[in-house]
Parts: sequence; structure tokens; C-alpha cells
Amino acid sequence: MDAAPERVVLIHYHEIGLKGRNRGRFERQLLTNITHALKGLTRGAVRRLSGRIILELPPDARIGAIRKRLADVFGIANFSEAVRVPNAIEPIRAAAWEVVRQEDFRSFKIAARRGDKNFPLTSEEINRDVGAHVQTLSGARVKLDDPDLTCYIEVAYQGVFIYTRKTPGPGGLPVGANERAVSLLSSGIDSPVASYKTMKRGVRLSFVHFHSQPYTNRSSQRNTEELVRVLTRYQYRSTLYLVPFVEIQRRVMTHAPPGYRVVLYRRVMLRIAEAIAEREGAQALVTGESIGQVASQTLSNIRAIEEATPLPLLRPLSGDNKEEIIDLARRIGTYDVSIEPYEDCCTVFVPRHPETRANLNTVREIEPKLDLPPLIDQALKATEVMTVKY
Ligand code: ATP
Ligand code: MG
Repeated sequence: MDAAPERVVLIHYHEIGLKGRNRGRFERQLLTNITHALKGLTRGAVRRLSGRIILELPPDARIGAIRKRLADVFGIANFSEAVRVPNAIEPIRAAAWEVVRQEDFRSFKIAARRGDKNFPLTSEEINRDVGAHVQTLSGARVKLDDPDLTCYIEVAYQGVFIYTRKTPGPGGLPVGANERAVSLLSSGIDSPVASYKTMKRGVRLSFVHFHSQPYTNRSSQRNTEELVRVLTRYQYRSTLYLVPFVEIQRRVMTHAPPGYRVVLYRRVMLRIAEAIAEREGAQALVTGESIGQVASQTLSNIRAIEEATPLPLLRPLSGDNKEEIIDLARRIGTYDVSIEPYEDCCTVFVPRHPETRANLNTVREIEPKLDLPPLIDQALKATEVMTVKY
């Protein structure tokens, strides 16, 4: 009797748009990220194999835990627990039956794909051969359109993979496959979701949070640390910059018209984030702004704020509704942390009626009088840096 078929997880990613050099980098990064994501779990080797990634499963692997981790790895289109057999029709037939007999079905189809062009049977011939075998043993009927069960057979050069279920991954691109950005992370609902959407495009983030201690308690800082911990699940290692903001707020409060305070705070936040981006080798900044969501997020204000930095500002939520943002926050695990009560720097220092149409010329007139650069330098010097590991 042959050895039992090898158990693996077969991981698929979308290859569209992945050509030449990019593709190799993408695949290597995905492989690295998968090994990070599985940290602490019993597993076998992880290998690239002609357009797929194979994770070998030792007998004591905890598949439930592995499945949960893989479902969060950006770049994975879908994955399947599969058996791997040698490239010959007899072992394929036997293994296909072993796989499908564990399922309850009255109709089925075989979906073979032949990547190994040296394999003697075509995909169609494999379908017919294995289909006949399964039909005889199960008594179920073959149904090509919407069957109860589909048995997938992928014939690769390095083995044949057989499985019945595909678990969707999050899609996107592996974090680290693209350049870096700095995300402005409050402890609210929006910016963690904006961070998630940016990481999903392969961008590695560093986080910056502005706090108003000792005027506020440590809750916003603790919530932010917790949010970074949740978000680190998607990029495995994060740096969080905690910037003291009180002196700047005090200066703005005492020297600028109330309506312009929020715009001025935000402009300073961007300048500080820009300095951090420089240090991190990051190419862009990310915020959780959504057009029109609050009075301060009008297009005029966005324009007046953005002008403070030459770096591109990414606003992945700009077109999203609040419900959509909350829904995603729940799914990625940040919502419960974001709704914890906290004292945000902005809840303490924000005027009741912020300007909704900030004028850039007015901003340019007020700002120089505040003599902010020395305060910005001071804030940067007093910034605490934390590393969060997965
Ligand atoms: P969020 O839900 O992310 O707090 P919001 O809807 O409260 O956003 P604003 O308060 O206008 O909106 O903030 C807009 C964006 O500015 C935030 O999404 C975040 O990117 C950034 N930001 C605001 N406050 C802070 C802070 N204390 N530290 C870091 N970034 C901040
Ligand atoms: Mg907020």
C-alpha cells in the first residue's frame, strides 16, 4: 500500500498585472508574510510552486488556527486544504474519492486543470475518468451546472492537488510589496480602517498619534496602542510615534481665530508626520478623512490642510459612507477598540463652530504669526517611539 497522500494548504493569488520583476518580488513577499502570519503554529515548509504557494501540513497541524491566520494575509485570493499525490491517474482517482467521500452530496462535478503539459490525459479526460470513478462509488450524479460538490484537481509539474473547498482570502497585495507610508492614527473609527485599506494595497505603514497629555488622560494613547496591535496582525511589525501636541494646541488656541483652529492643528499634524515620513523612508501620508463626514472635512478645508505638506495625502475613505466604514471596522477587529471611551486631543481643544470654508490665504496670513516651527521641533524631540510585534 502507498503512503497516505500528503496534506497541504494550496494558496492561490491573482496573477493579473504581476509580470516580470514585480511578480518575483510579490511572490517572495507573500511567502515571507505567510511565514510571519503563521508564527507560533505547527506547520511544515512553505514553498512557491508554479503560480501557487504550498504550505505542508504535519499530522499535528491545527488547521482551524491556520485557516484563521491565512484569511488575513493580503495578497491571498483563496486557499484550500488539499491532498497532494504523484502525477499519475490511479493515485488521483483514489485520492479524489477519499476527499469527496467525506462530504454529503447528491450531485458533483470534477474540475481538473492540467498545468503539467507532460501529463498523458487532458483536463477533459481527467474529468471523465475521475467522474466515472466517483459516480460508481457514490451513486451521485454528475451535474456540470451548480452541483452540490465540486472536486478540484490541479495537475502541476511537482504534484497533483485535490480539494473541494476554497476559502476566500482578503485579496490585495502582500504588505511590503509596495513602498511605505505614514498613517495618522487617532483613536477614532475611521483612521484604523483607512490604515487597513492602505496596507491591503501592499503598503507598509508607520503610525503617528498626537496626544494632549497631561490635559487628557492616557486613554487615547492606550486605545491607539491597542489599535496598532490589532493592525499589526496585517503587517507583522509596526512602529508607533506618540507625539505630544499640547504646546502646539495651546499656541493655536491663544493666537488663532476659533474657526481656524482645526485646520491649523491638522496642518501641524501633517508637518510632523512629514518629518516622521522622512525618517521612515515613507513616500506618502494616510488619513481617515471622508468627504463631508464632519464640518471640518469639506473640500475647502481639505485643500487648506493638504497645502501644508508636499507629500501625497492618501484618503482611502474619501468616498465611503459611515456605515461602510463601521462595517469594515467590525470585520477587521478595530471597531470595539475605537468605540472605547477616550479623550481625544481634538475633543478637548476643538471649537464649537469650526470654519467649514477655510480660506487658504487667511491660513497663510495667520500661521506665520504663531511661530510654530520651534514648537514642531520640540514636539518631534519629545516624541516617543514604540515597536509593536505580531
Ligand atoms: P477618526 O475616526 O479617524 O478619528 P474623524 O472622523 O474623527 O476620524 P477628524 O477628527 O476630522 O475625523 O480627523 C481626520 C483625520 O485626521 C483622522 O482620520 C486621522 O487620520 C487624523 N487625526 C485626527 N486626530 C488625530 C490624532 N490625535 N492623532 C493622529 N491623527 C489624527
Ligand atoms: Mg476622530
